[in-house]
Amino acid sequence: MIKIYNTLSGKVDEFKPIKDGEVSMYVCGPTVYNYIHIGNARPAIFFDTVRRYFEYRGYKVKYVQNFTDVDDKMIKRANEEGVNLKAIADKYIKAYFEDTSKVNLKEEGMIRPKATEHIGDMIEIIQNLIEKGHAYEADGDVYFDVESYKEKYGALSKQNIDDLQSGARIEVADIKKSPLDFALWKKAKEGEPSWDSPWGKGRPGWHIECSAMSHRYLGDTFDIHGGGQDLIFPHHENEIAQSKCSCGGEFARYWMHNGYININGEKMSKSGTFMLLRQVLEQFEGRVIRLFVLGAHYRKPMEFSNYELNQAKSSLERIENALVRAKNILANEAVENGNDCVELAEVLKTSSEKFIAGMDDDFNTAQGLGAIFELVKELNKALDSEKLSVLGKENVQKTVDYIVNIMEEVLGVKLKLDNEVGNLTSELVEFILELRREARAEKNWGMSDKIRDRLAEMGIKIKDGKDKTTWSM
Ligand SMILES: [Zn+2]
Repeated sequence: MIKIYNTLSGKVDEFKPIKDGEVSMYVCGPTVYNYIHIGNARPAIFFDTVRRYFEYRGYKVKYVQNFTDVDDKMIKRANEEGVNLKAIADKYIKAYFEDTSKVNLKEEGMIRPKATEHIGDMIEIIQNLIEKGHAYEADGDVYFDVESYKEKYGALSKQNIDDLQSGARIEVADIKKSPLDFALWKKAKEGEPSWDSPWGKGRPGWHIECSAMSHRYLGDTFDIHGGGQDLIFPHHENEIAQSKCSCGGEFARYWMHNGYININGEKMSKSGTFMLLRQVLEQFEGRVIRLFVLGAHYRKPMEFSNYELNQAKSSLERIENALVRAKNILANEAVENGNDCVELAEVLKTSSEKFIAGMDDDFNTAQGLGAIFELVKELNKALDSEKLSVLGKENVQKTVDYIVNIMEEVLGVKLKLDNEVGNLTSELVEFILELRREARAEKNWGMSDKIRDRLAEMGIKIKDGKDKTTWSM
């Protein structure tokens, strides 16, 4: 049974989909006015993993993530670069796919609508809101009337409307009825892109975009709405108000929000240090970045640094080295009286249960990965014996297949198992061990120890057995 921490209920809820065996989810996508930064990569990677895990558990997933291709930041950037809005959107959407393809997002079956392709849907919702008395026109703008949704407004962000009202800034020239009212439609300004509407030329407000696109693809009520914690207020609060007042359904039933990424202990947007995903990709492979993101629980803040990424890199290498080692040993013939790897088979069972328990518990990827590392450790132990029986080979193969499937298909972390470097490393280590055997045969203990110590410094542990020396990384 999958449980989800639901921002709306403020607790961990059992996940009960609207339709048995199906999951509908909407995640707020990027505003395409710049290359995406590592803070945008976190929800992209995390929610992709949520989708993959639901599929692993047998659900059919309908996943929508939008592109915001019209808003103030977009218009500003278009003016700066001296091109039109569409040119900016096209450029950064292309860049988005270039960057995210390296962190292995599953694009198959994904719905990625653009806001500008749904202006008609937005106008329809706004008209509906005006008719129902939840919105009003003021000099070519249209505003949502928060007072008309007074009882429920603030339910997601756990804020009280009176507190919000007293804290809101009142501008002298404000044409809004209340400072909390937010724009659904903005009257066109000189030199801005605009669309025709019943209220004259203009463009949509940001919040209405997500209400329109989620409604178009997922209907009045759907299962999960996701995004970063910074979107809870006002964006998601306003989405709820608009959607519930216009469509009358439940809107999203489970609200999931991922934590921030900190650089030098400070929230990235606050410190002003934006680390672009493509900058990080110059130094680290996408699969390392992916493992780094999944290494922490999604609701917790994450510290971003080269140190953390190097940690993820060596964790990944640990998995790959064990698998390459297994592959080499599996190539040998089975021997009678070889190791049956019975303990490995047991750990495979308990680890796969632990993986599911962790992931079922609000997608605790850190716990899930912990179970995989336990299994890798046991695999290395089993491989130390080198000589495997028929059963032993079977158990090692099953373990290898399981680890590869979880890492690649469920967690989306591609492994390099046929890579020449991995194979070369093991061949080199074998060769060095051969030289060491010769040194020992000549009773050159100084050389033998020197080789052992130098390998240990490189993270390669060797173990002298009765008739063979084994190694692990
Ligand atoms: Zn949104």
